Amino acid sequence: MSENVYQIAIDGPSGSGKSTLAKGAATKLGIMYLDTGAMYRTCGLCALKSGIGTKDTDAVKKMLDSMDLKIKFADGVQHMILNGEDVTGSIRTPEVSRAASDISSLPIVRTAMVDMQRKIAADQSFVVDGRDIGSVVLPNAKYKFFLTASAEARAQRRFLELQEKGTPQALEDVLKDIIWRDKQDSERAASPLVKVDDAIEIDTSNIGIEETLDLLLSYIKE
Ligand code: C5P
Repeated sequence: MSENVYQIAIDGPSGSGKSTLAKGAATKLGIMYLDTGAMYRTCGLCALKSGIGTKDTDAVKKMLDSMDLKIKFADGVQHMILNGEDVTGSIRTPEVSRAASDISSLPIVRTAMVDMQRKIAADQSFVVDGRDIGSVVLPNAKYKFFLTASAEARAQRRFLELQEKGTPQALEDVLKDIIWRDKQDSERAASPLVKVDDAIEIDTSNIGIEETLDLLLSYIKE
């Protein structure tokens, strides 16, 4: 890795504001942003499209062997290309969220995705967000952040986001989904969501996105 290449790892549970902050930080610093959740979502979508069980290791292994997953960055926007098709717009549904959470608990899936993530972030400076970036993917990242927020605050944000997108869901269902994903993501055996000792923790429950971004950037000396 060349001397002026550096990485920023941002981990945290669903709805903690990771992607908005990661995107904002990358733009401010003039570096790239990699959303690793989109990769697991694309694997989940691929399983749903193929009609295979998202926890069926043998079937998922076959799927991974034949799957053509590519990431293209166009004007700073990450596009997920699955078997030649741009699926960026299809991976944000609740069904894909659950499939992503299931499939990401399989070690064979994690090994394949982590390998891709490390290669992508090797030669250029990147902000990378996910669940295991500071702990597993980029343990030597120059900066590590761990974002938290109460489940209620995260559900409220997601609820508003879904409303804005024109795909509303009851707040109660959004909260249930967040609690279910938190449990699954932090209790799985393979790379569970954990805060590493050298990560800076930021609780975003009661502060706005601009303020959180300023706080995060105040730690970065580039
Ligand atoms: O971040 P996002 O909500 O898009 O991630 C979707 C799912 O992918 C998460 O619920 C989690 O199970 C999984 N994931 C993961 N490791 C990452 C990023 C996401 O296991 N680095």
